[in-house]
Amino acid sequence: MKYRYSLEKGSKKFTCPSCEAKKRFRRYIDNQTGQYLGDDIGMCDRINECGYHKPPRKTRKKIISHSIYQKIKPKKKKISFIPPDVFKNTLIPYHQNNFITGLLKLFNSEIVTSLIERYHIGTINDKVVFWQVDEYMRIRTGKIMQYDPNKLIRIRYPNWIHTYFNLKNFNHDQCLFGLHLVKELNINTPICVVESEKTAIILSGYYPDVIWMAAGSANMLSKERIKSIIGHPIFLYADIGMEKLWARKMLGIDNVKIVFWNKALEIDPEEHNGADLADFPHPDERMPLPMKLK
Ligand SMILES: [Zn+2]
Repeated sequence: MKYRYSLEKGSKKFTCPSCEAKKRFRRYIDNQTGQYLGDDIGMCDRINECGYHKPPRKTRKKIISHSIYQKIKPKKKKISFIPPDVFKNTLIPYHQNNFITGLLKLFNSEIVTSLIERYHIGTINDKVVFWQVDEYMRIRTGKIMQYDPNKLIRIRYPNWIHTYFNLKNFNHDQCLFGLHLVKELNINTPICVVESEKTAIILSGYYPDVIWMAAGSANMLSKERIKSIIGHPIFLYADIGMEKLWARKMLGIDNVKIVFWNKALEIDPEEHNGADLADFPHPDERMPLPMKLK
């Protein structure tokens, strides 16, 4: 029997929406039309390091009714959480942490300390851990990243905490980076969402009165992932060139605004395609913050 949808055969691979590794992500194809499904519908071949797999949702019922598939396809598993000790053991002195060394070139130690506390930034050797703590203070997972301390540019691909510590049968379900902050907020408080954890942290250093969260990557923004902040005015600061993708992903959700920050900061989108807010000098009085946009 031929399935309606299957992973594309051959060597063509894309950038993984979860770990961002290039040419490691195979997408699903509609065998009736030959078209790709959504750009996040597929499977990463870094099975151990990343493990991202999003099958076509609408077809799940049909697929499950197939008896062979039923045997191998487990029921939707419960979300796993990181044991608090694993989390706490990363909240250690930061002198080796290259990301923090980079932050200290932008901010004084008082501000850096407040950022570490605000975002529960962790350390493993010289690497940084961006913990994903949800609105119930449950630890979904952590992203381990290596940075060049001089330019705060990412080196190599991220690894996940549950992979690094080899946590068995860990069913990870990501949340927004910074989601835990929602707990303290009045429902009228605006929330700004950027693409990367680094950008959220840096912008929070420059504009501490504003709540900054990160999707993790352009493709990781989804209706499901912003569920916990719906009701708040949401302002999306996509990387340059990703505004349309983010607008499409949020279609039908009220109270979400795409901010064309490059226009406000007079940045040429062609020349700076793919750039993010942290790539430019701050603070900038032209910066389109929520209080100015309302
Ligand atoms: Zn991946």
